[in-house]
Amino acid sequence: MNDMLAGLKISVSGIVQGVGFRPFVYGTATRFNLSGSVWNTSKGVEIELFGLQANLDQFLTELTAHPPVLARIDQIESFPIDYQDVPGFSIKDSLAEEGQFLPVSPDMSICPDCLHELFDPKNRRYRYPFINCTNCGPRFSIIKNIPYDRPLTTMAEFKLCPACQAEYDDPLDRRFHAQPVACPDCGPRVQFIAQGQIIGKFEGAISTARQFLIDGKIIAVKGLGGYHLACDASNAEAVQRLRDRKKRSDRPFALMSFDPDAIRKYCELNDAETATLQSPQHPIVLLPRKEDCPLPESIAPVQTHLGFMLPYTPLHYLLLEPDEGFPDVLVMTSGNLSDEPIAYEDEDARIRLSGIADGFLVHNREIHMRVDDSVVRLVEQKPYFMRRSRGYAPDPIILNDKVSEILACGAELKNTFCLSLDHYAFLSHHIGDLENYETLSSFENGIVHFQNLFRIKPKMIAADLHPEYLSTKYAVERACKEELPLVQVQHHHAHLASCLADNHYPANQNVIGLIFDGTGYGTDGAIWGGEVLVGSYGSVERRFHLAETSLPGGDSAIRNTSKIALSQLFSAELPWYEDLPPVLSFNSQELEILKTQLTNRINCPKTTSMGRLFDAVASLIGIRQIATYEGQAAIELENACDPDENHAYSFRIKADTIETAELFDHILLNLRMGISSNTIAARFHNGLAKMCLEVCQTIQGESGLQTVALSGGVWQNITLLNKTTALLRYNGFSVLQHHQVPANDGGIALGQLMVAAAAKGLK
Ligand code: ZN
Ligand code: ZN
Ligand code: FE
Repeated sequence: MNDMLAGLKISVSGIVQGVGFRPFVYGTATRFNLSGSVWNTSKGVEIELFGLQANLDQFLTELTAHPPVLARIDQIESFPIDYQDVPGFSIKDSLAEEGQFLPVSPDMSICPDCLHELFDPKNRRYRYPFINCTNCGPRFSIIKNIPYDRPLTTMAEFKLCPACQAEYDDPLDRRFHAQPVACPDCGPRVQFIAQGQIIGKFEGAISTARQFLIDGKIIAVKGLGGYHLACDASNAEAVQRLRDRKKRSDRPFALMSFDPDAIRKYCELNDAETATLQSPQHPIVLLPRKEDCPLPESIAPVQTHLGFMLPYTPLHYLLLEPDEGFPDVLVMTSGNLSDEPIAYEDEDARIRLSGIADGFLVHNREIHMRVDDSVVRLVEQKPYFMRRSRGYAPDPIILNDKVSEILACGAELKNTFCLSLDHYAFLSHHIGDLENYETLSSFENGIVHFQNLFRIKPKMIAADLHPEYLSTKYAVERACKEELPLVQVQHHHAHLASCLADNHYPANQNVIGLIFDGTGYGTDGAIWGGEVLVGSYGSVERRFHLAETSLPGGDSAIRNTSKIALSQLFSAELPWYEDLPPVLSFNSQELEILKTQLTNRINCPKTTSMGRLFDAVASLIGIRQIATYEGQAAIELENACDPDENHAYSFRIKADTIETAELFDHILLNLRMGISSNTIAARFHNGLAKMCLEVCQTIQGESGLQTVALSGGVWQNITLLNKTTALLRYNGFSVLQHHQVPANDGGIALGQLMVAAAAKGLK
């Protein structure tokens, strides 16, 4: 049989275009003496092969075992065809079929082969800041439309030189059909600009930028998906100047070092973390800060973890190249002013960042799509997303069942949107907080761009229930204009569905959802956020919720954690002792006004938010009275936890309410006893984990359910996540954590989409 001549037709779907797939097929077929051809279709790649049966088998094995690094194969189908005597193997032109779509590769960090060439003096791209190949480089951020060919990318204006063209045309070359391929003769170039003058070109641009950094200056660096602001991270003055100019409150800065060894000086780094830092996606990884870490505290005030990444473009490598006197760690924070989106267009960057940066390291390859850095932490050795963007978007989330074309508009903060087609849910890159014109327009443009790229024409729109979210307003308007059905999904139901889809959980099987976050519009118009739900994609029941408390002043109180603490004490009918930190942060007149406000319920919306419970505890034990960014108090409370403390506070559960009066009573008592804030913080976390177990056991008793989904922004708290997961598993529950999308509102669009699909029976 094996020496018989035979034919084989293979269809491969997934991310198989623009990643060196056809050259790989060509090379492998030639190696196994097979003739035939390969071509792109709008569904993926098709291959026809003819030759000895044994060689055909070997080809299939090789295809399955060692596909190109950037390829992501979703499916391989193969069936025998009649043998044909065709001469050799060829790569046929691709055809773009109308109405079809194909996944687009995310932007990928420089590959080992290109990195080697970058520092090889004999290579013609030696020290060329834009070296790339089919295995690496810009993709999503430079694609204007499909098919993914050079004329439809921002590389269109660079005409290939003969040497690059030859590589581009050679099926056996690593740069065969690599659309962004370039060299010093024909490709983009760098410049360094200070005070409106070009003061460095080529190598000189990079060396000037490096000198600025050595001198403690701040520079803006144009990267893959936007601008960074960089300075010497070990220079406390420079870091403080950057913080002042950026008006960035206490938000931590991301850092970049040349290699893992440099990072080890500052943070603990295990194998899984190293592998994640070095993965083709190169996300920012949050790493435990070493106790003797010599970096200034102002990098990331009161943080136990630092966000590190490795260089992911050749330009970064040249900028960070180790040398005597050059810092081994740089701040590489997003190029923006506090809450604005990151700058990515040159003119805009020059205007917006001119008050912050002393110089600009720029280049003339245009960025078409703004893409922020992704941020992960490792949980159980795997990346757990804080932000899913560069390197991951627009990779689709694979769904269990086919879904119709739906647009889900996401939430207000940390917005992402999601579009579906067949088994794919294309969750967008990080858009940001929809609170200014610029972010809103990048939301709107982003949706149009995704629709074009993936050939999706939404037949239904999903949005949050909150009428004031700008994403909801967009959805309502668009549904009306295009006469499309609109499904408004309760915020916490969407979180639950997001976690289920993230775990490929089957439809129509109920789970227990511990959905904890800061803010979400409830079906009763109140602000929810401490919700225990039972249900699935189609529907949920609110089985338990955190006790209601007042939010004096509404949303404006959210950053004033002492107000929230006093409100909680008021609800629990506990005294405002005058030596309590939240009491000390007001004068007697202010306290009087607050008391009147709470008593008469003037502008005091009700909330069951878990985020606000964290705020209250953080304030009460003196950790934080005014938050300068969202979630700050909760993060600092987590960081304060004494890891060796085993006691837990208890929550009384009455009917459907998780009461907090007893909790605050205990905390006040512990404060009187002089127990440290670290111990109290740990007891609070332990108490929450125990409460989670208790409510799950109650529901298990009622319905027999034993699967628990953990979603909502509070589950960014890894201490709580680990404690709760361990306790639930120990007691026989199976726990669904997020893996592919963030637990926070950055993952909520996926959930909205799933609920909308289920609601209309379109799955
Ligand atoms: Zn490469
Ligand atoms: Zn060239
Ligand atoms: Fe939320």
